[in-house]
Amino acid sequence: MPQRTISNFNGILLFRRDYRERDMLIKFLTAEYGKKMFFIRGARRRGFKMAAELLPFTMGEYVGDLRDGLSYINSVKTVQYFENISQDIALNAYATYVMNLIDVAYPDNQPVGRWYQQLTSALQLIDQNVAPAIVANVVEIQLLAAFGVAPELRACTVCGRTDLPFDYSESYGGLLCQQHWHLDPHRLHASQAAIYYLRRFSVLDLAKVHSISVKPTTAQQLRRILDEIYNNSVGLRLKSKRFIDQMGSWYQPLPPRNQD
Ligand SMILES: [Zn+2]
Repeated sequence: MPQRTISNFNGILLFRRDYRERDMLIKFLTAEYGKKMFFIRGARRRGFKMAAELLPFTMGEYVGDLRDGLSYINSVKTVQYFENISQDIALNAYATYVMNLIDVAYPDNQPVGRWYQQLTSALQLIDQNVAPAIVANVVEIQLLAAFGVAPELRACTVCGRTDLPFDYSESYGGLLCQQHWHLDPHRLHASQAAIYYLRRFSVLDLAKVHSISVKPTTAQQLRRILDEIYNNSVGLRLKSKRFIDQMGSWYQPLPPRNQD
């Protein structure tokens, strides 16, 4: 893209950060240009005219001066708010975590594949309180390739078989069939249900999802497997993830909504 250009873009606000005395830096995931950091002059002054349109957990259509360094927003055409996410601390935690992950996984100013659509769907599901922990698992699994860990989840990494029970091996970078379990004493000892969802979630289009139900024991296994992979193979420990881990000890989630 040229050095600078005034253009329309669709964006999801990833985070806001105070900058100097009265200004703010805001990062958007744009549909058209990947992630972009914007300098918002006077954003912390009282009476700032775009205050409502640049709140956290907002997405919309904007007009801006887009550059490879700091970009600028000229005007806001339409916005929509993820209201439940902004009001509920647990939904807020999951939304913040998935946006953090995408931010860390890709450099600014580069295309992010289908992540604009996938993140939109993830936030819509989290906003409706549709299995936010599982939505986070889907994002974690699908971002592994961007983190340089592209696990083989279609067949055994050693022999290519698909008809035997599987386990996950970090050393082999993916599935091991039962015949090859002996090759890795540190395989993750995952249940067949957890392996099933790991494989299924790796190709799940969140736009097509309306409800997700995974047994609590399987959900715990998925959490353990993904923690192992993110701690050991990816080597990532985000503050927003630690917050979710701590939240487990004191937060009672809302009952899921009826799907009608
Ligand atoms: Zn095998």
